[in-house]
Amino acid sequence: MEKEQVSADGKFRWIDPHVHILPPRRMRGLVRWVKKFTPGYPVSEDITPEEILDGIRSGGVELFFNLVFPLWEEETYDLNRFNYELCSGIPEALAFGSLHIDTPDKESETLRCLDEYGFVGMKLHPFAQRFPAFDPVMDPLFSVLDRRGRPLLVHTGFDLFYGMDLEKDNLIRVLESYPRMPMVLVHSLFPQFALALQLLERYPQVWMDMTNSISVMRLYLEFKRSGQSLPPQASSLEVEEVERNQEHFWALFGEYPRRIIYGTDYPVGFGEYQKLRDDLDFFDFPDETKRMILFSNVMDFLHSVGVNPPLR
Ligand SMILES: [Zn+2]
Repeated sequence: MEKEQVSADGKFRWIDPHVHILPPRRMRGLVRWVKKFTPGYPVSEDITPEEILDGIRSGGVELFFNLVFPLWEEETYDLNRFNYELCSGIPEALAFGSLHIDTPDKESETLRCLDEYGFVGMKLHPFAQRFPAFDPVMDPLFSVLDRRGRPLLVHTGFDLFYGMDLEKDNLIRVLESYPRMPMVLVHSLFPQFALALQLLERYPQVWMDMTNSISVMRLYLEFKRSGQSLPPQASSLEVEEVERNQEHFWALFGEYPRRIIYGTDYPVGFGEYQKLRDDLDFFDFPDETKRMILFSNVMDFLHSVGVNPPLR
């Protein structure tokens, strides 16, 4: 348990478990994609790793997970190599590797990520990568992580926005078959918080990352309180489903405050760090809950997978 709960400027310490510093071509593609549905998004297609790092540091983030994911098999090796080289030069970066469903030797590439590159774990983004992450063909990945007790981060949620569905049966299959592989459900299955609760209850290896979900829930609640109807672009936010799941959203924080973490998708999430802190503060969670979500839970998570983060 960390003794110091706040940083020098009086804010809660923060470890960001969800950042994307990518090679220039992929960064450009990602920012362009964001601008397609958020015109005027204030980030340049040509943003550099140094600029992203400046934003992270001035946001008071002490440590972050850098996440990559290949869109086609051919870039898998280069992308993992990129993340290794990038994070080797950034003391506060913890790298995660990734695979493609067509990666021929999934076990070797996973072992390379863990052993040669020293990555913490692996990340999959089935909706962006356009393949079923929990398909049995991915088992060699899970098997290595399970053997090593290393984590899988996986995108879940915003199904309507992506036009894809959660592979619930296969997710359960993987949770049952690989219980020693901690699994972080990125975006916490937004807005299926009832399911999130069930999974936390049934599977002790499951963690929830609230990246974007906090900001979207704030938007939703603000609109609701203002009595206005939601803007048309909110149609992909599954308003009725959010409504149905609202009490379960609160229950997550009440019942499992130690297994929730809060990432950002920086620099392509819901804004700069101060704004993202404000989004969390919008909810009147106890200070102790916020302190855990921002910092000590991520420390506990890292310790639980045998990683000692380079922190004071
Ligand atoms: Zn992301």
